[in-house]
Amino acid sequence: MEPESAPSVPPTAHEVAQLITALQSTGLRVEVPIGARTGGAGPADAGMLYIEGVQTTVPTSAVYVENSPYALRGEDDGGWAVYEGSQRLASATLAPRPAYYDLTTDEGIPYWQIALLHLDSVASTVLQTCAYWGNDDQCAFCGIGVTLANGRTIAKKTPAMLAEVAVAARDLDGAVDATLTTGSTATPDRGALYVGRCGEAVKVASGLPVQVQFEPPADLDVIDRVADMGVDSVGIHVESFDPQVLARVAPGKARWGLDAYFTAWERAVAAFGPGQVSTYVILGMGEDEQVTVEGCKRAIDIGVYPFVVPLRPVPGSLMEDLLPPPKEAVEAVYRQIVPYLALRGMSASGVAAGCARCQACSGLGAFEMAEGDSRDGRRTLPLVISA
Ligand code: SF4
Repeated sequence: MEPESAPSVPPTAHEVAQLITALQSTGLRVEVPIGARTGGAGPADAGMLYIEGVQTTVPTSAVYVENSPYALRGEDDGGWAVYEGSQRLASATLAPRPAYYDLTTDEGIPYWQIALLHLDSVASTVLQTCAYWGNDDQCAFCGIGVTLANGRTIAKKTPAMLAEVAVAARDLDGAVDATLTTGSTATPDRGALYVGRCGEAVKVASGLPVQVQFEPPADLDVIDRVADMGVDSVGIHVESFDPQVLARVAPGKARWGLDAYFTAWERAVAAFGPGQVSTYVILGMGEDEQVTVEGCKRAIDIGVYPFVVPLRPVPGSLMEDLLPPPKEAVEAVYRQIVPYLALRGMSASGVAAGCARCQACSGLGAFEMAEGDSRDGRRTLPLVISA
């Protein structure tokens, strides 16, 4: 055990943002078990914790994490901290095991198989099956079928189940919103109506703000119908703005073409409002940086929040052997997007619900906070604005 360094001055918001970005690229060695998500849709292999109070998820169980310079250690006062060697970098708080995980439905289904608590968001993949899974159209970064195959979830969550679990997550564990995604169905609405109905049931029962995520439906009127169900925010994820990369990693989604996403987003912004529509933008799949940044800016210009995240290679996915992108590449994109969000008056703090509100799987929100950090009174983020 390396000797602990003297207690250090708390890091600035900018240093916390940089640390989170570094941890999401290299992983965090944990010498004690912490709450984590190992598979499923979205960024899995996600140890959940708070770094200086900022919620984040970091890789903890992938093979490459063994080489990470960062370790989570317990401290004499019973707290936790992130170390690099003997250098103490930041305090950490572990996400507690949710109390609602001990509950089951009347049919005996454990609540945690219906929805997980992602820090403060009750999250679920309402249909754990996808028209693209297991065929040539499978998205290379996704692990939706992994958790189903290993019995960690059920194939279809009903609106009633989700409503019941959301109320428990709110009351027992302080959930502040719900994030509902779905595998795409082979129907024209791509599953948007079903996840919309699930969102409606959660909203009516729990009063929590709800985000639902789905692919662009063939008929865009579907987006208005989802809005009429009382859903607050939507995620329609393009995954990459680089057409060559999208065609390679998500052939099914790429078949729509980027313009179909912009058309669906415009319709969604009209229905949900600017900033209440977001898209995942995954870095580390071979994309061109400037094509990515320009795509994000074009999305921001029409009211869409680009939720930029580093690739989190999911065990069991087609990309399981890849590594996350280097922190420098990720930070370079954040530095160009954050000032542009500010220029257009958009921010994570304005998102009602979902991943872009939660921000845990990205460092973007932490850089946004650093942008406004008043701890040392200086604007810590060099502005890179080209209108
Ligand atoms: S950003 Fe938050 S809600 Fe979204 S997948 Fe990550 S932890 Fe879950």
